[in-house]
Amino acid sequence: MHAFSSAPSAPLTRLPDGTVKQINPFTGTHVWTVPGRGNRPLTPPPATDEVLEEGERTRMCAFCQDNYALTPPEKARVVRDTDGSWHTIVGVSADDMHATVAEFRRIPNLFEILSFDFWSANYGSHMSDDAIAHLNAYLSTSSGIEHCRAIVRTKMAASGTPLPTDHQISLDELREQVRPFFASGHDVIVGRRHVVDGAHYASQLASSGTLSVDEHRAYIAFTIEGMKDIYLSNPWVRYVAVFQNWLRPAGASFDHLHKQLVGIDEHGVSTQREVNLLHHNPNSFNDLAVNYAAQQKLLIAANDHAVAFAGFGHRYPTVEVYSRSSCTEPWTMDPDERDGMADVLHAVHAATGPTVPCNEEWHHTPLDVDTPMPWHINIKWRVSTVAGFEGGTKIYINTIDPWTLRERVVSELMRLRHEGAIAEDLLIGNECPRTPNMLRYNPFLTRV
Ligand SMILES: [Zn+2]
Repeated sequence: MHAFSSAPSAPLTRLPDGTVKQINPFTGTHVWTVPGRGNRPLTPPPATDEVLEEGERTRMCAFCQDNYALTPPEKARVVRDTDGSWHTIVGVSADDMHATVAEFRRIPNLFEILSFDFWSANYGSHMSDDAIAHLNAYLSTSSGIEHCRAIVRTKMAASGTPLPTDHQISLDELREQVRPFFASGHDVIVGRRHVVDGAHYASQLASSGTLSVDEHRAYIAFTIEGMKDIYLSNPWVRYVAVFQNWLRPAGASFDHLHKQLVGIDEHGVSTQREVNLLHHNPNSFNDLAVNYAAQQKLLIAANDHAVAFAGFGHRYPTVEVYSRSSCTEPWTMDPDERDGMADVLHAVHAATGPTVPCNEEWHHTPLDVDTPMPWHINIKWRVSTVAGFEGGTKIYINTIDPWTLRERVVSELMRLRHEGAIAEDLLIGNECPRTPNMLRYNPFLTRV
């Protein structure tokens, strides 16, 4: 069914015995899939299925709805109005913390990857006027002061330098200690639920795929607002990395749905590599990604604004989702285009299922790069791989080849469509368009 190619540089080579050799066209990563390993269950059933007591669903971890005060002062929240519409509230005070139910919150990470001191010492960064105003407003109430004191204590205890219990943190000391939270360039977007509504068991976790289509659109839109805010609040930020680690094997500290946004002072290795490739061929993301995937019958889902396919040359089974928009900045994109991308991403998560640990990694054109690159997101299934072999050979063993991955996801999407759990207008599997150059980011294409 799939042509055998002996060319060692082809992204996909299927050997007669079924072994698939893959080379990632962007990273050069070599991956083999050996037949016979791909149909095992992806994850074991939970070891314990703890029954939830009444009221427990909203206080299972520090990200839960009853525990807003356990995380640093929030920057913004999304609430749902009675008519079903969404709106963002910025800078909620400690007094108003529980006045509304946050569907999504943006909070500073307690332990930043790049701290405020990093930006201050290396770039002379100052707090933005908005951040100073937020800090002053927060510390103008006794509840705000008490919340900040508790968070400082939590952070110091977690760092191994707990404050003596009789030490009263002065207001000046407090202001100094909490400044990094208000000026943070490392934020967390937290969903409302830990477990799905009405869950009886602790294992019934609320993942990206268990959100409704509408909720997931709001989640993505709010995340993009956060990206824009980090770019605007610190002129030294060259790139905002966005990622979601789902479940502990994928690096999450909490089994509670969240994404992270990290402003960094360079483009990052993978983005820079992609930019370099685009300098040689501006159409790389059509030629080497979507066009090739379509030829290899690896397309999974599409709508007018996005397309997903089973990726090749990844260390873990990976579904790649690309925006088809001619606009490459998620925050300036037309809302329909943004929502279309959110819908395809949501469907992929729904098909993946809440028990599979996975990483969601976003890529977009950095602000200071003049070569357009489409917004795209990889969803990596962190299922077990064979260890040991990789270190010596730099060839990675991935247990699921791209065609098997595609079949698994497509058949699950068909079932989910039947249940009405994914966006109605989604084209699935063979329904996807096969026209070349589906991605419209490349300005040269419009001249044809
Ligand atoms: Zn929680």
